[in-house]
Parts: sequence; C-alpha cells; structure tokens
Amino acid sequence: MKNEKFEEDIISIPEIFNKLSIVELDGEKILKGELDIIDTTGKPWDTYQIEIKGSDGYPYSFPKLFETANAFPKILDWHVYEFNDKSCCVDVTPNELIICKSGLNIIDYIERFVIPYFANQSFRIREGYYLYGEYAHGIFGRIQFYQSKLRAKNPNELLRMFYLIVNDYNPERTAFCPFCSKTKFRKCHKAAFAELSIIKDFLYWDGSKQLIPFFTANPDYKLP
Ligand SMILES: [Zn+2]
Repeated sequence: MKNEKFEEDIISIPEIFNKLSIVELDGEKILKGELDIIDTTGKPWDTYQIEIKGSDGYPYSFPKLFETANAFPKILDWHVYEFNDKSCCVDVTPNELIICKSGLNIIDYIERFVIPYFANQSFRIREGYYLYGEYAHGIFGRIQFYQSKLRAKNPNELLRMFYLIVNDYNPERTAFCPFCSKTKFRKCHKAAFAELSIIKDFLYWDGSKQLIPFFTANPDYKLP
C-alpha cells in the first residue's frame, strides 16, 4: 500500500540500521534488508531478512512487517496474520491504536516492536516457547488486553466499563469507583479509562460487534 508519509519517514532509517535499505517494489518505496538481533551481552543472536511496507493507516497504525526467509512458520500460532497477508502481528489492535494515537515514529517502532518481536521468535525457535509470555490471538487476545487495563470481575462489568468509556464517563473528583468498593475512582480506574478513551470508536465497535455476541454465545466464559 503506497503511503507517502511512510516513504518520507523511512529516508533516515538506513543511516541508523545500516543493513536496511530503501528499495522500490511495485511502485512503492519499502525498507528491505537484514535486521540483527543482539542479546543482552551484545552478542549477535540472529539475523532476520525483513521487509517493512507502508500500510493504509500509517502513521495512525503500524506499517506492514514481513519476514522473508522462512525463519519461522507463517501461522497464527507464531504471531503471523496467517489468513490475511502473512505479515507479522507485533501487537493486538487496541494497543496498536493507542501507541499510534499521535502518529507513529518509525525508529521507535523498529526499536520497541520489531526487534522485540524477532527476539521473541528467536527465543521460541531455540526453546520452544515465548519467554515473555504472549497475548492470545483474536478475540481472546483483545479480552486479555482489555483485562490487563480494566480488571473487570465479569463480562457484564467489562461491557459496563466499555459503555462508560464510550460515553466519556467523568465523575467528580471525590466520586467513588462504581467497580471497586470504597476506592476513589481517580485512584483506581481513572487512568485506564483515560487511556482507552483514545480508542473509544474502536471500543464501541469491538464491544457491540465482537464482545457482546461472544459473551452471549459463551455464557460461562470466565475473564482471564
Ligand atoms: Zn476502580
């Protein structure tokens, strides 16, 4: 997907990551080359062949990342969008949207997401599991993400929180939290609500089109 902002942003990348270069592919400029994964003692651990391409939503969503030498299986279980374009899935969508809220910095993206993604893959290739744990896939991954922020006691409470966030819930300073007994809202859930309010359009969509049908179809589902 040709994206002019992306093509402009990648100009400085080869100076910083000197095994990556800008090449033209199907009329768009992309980053292509090698990425070294260095372990904590400074020893080279692995080298990946990668491509980074512009996406539709960039810089308000991640660019597309590809591993091109078949270093690991291109399936969901290895955090690859298996049924889409086989690009790498570096984070769950809601978190991606929060991180990109004021426009992604591509250097930051490579350092904070691309390198850790491949370091995680290298660890799994050697040891058989992910060192830092992982988000589950699809709807389970998103529920896990929301729960890491909101800590709801049950699905209904989670949906009530979504509703309040979407509707800009903003009680008085001294108000108690509707979800935590005897705690001031500003001391418990306020920060998470503020963070997720950045993606309230997505919450509205995810809540009504995904979570409600899922919880309805699985009434015994226990939140993580
Ligand atoms: Zn609370």
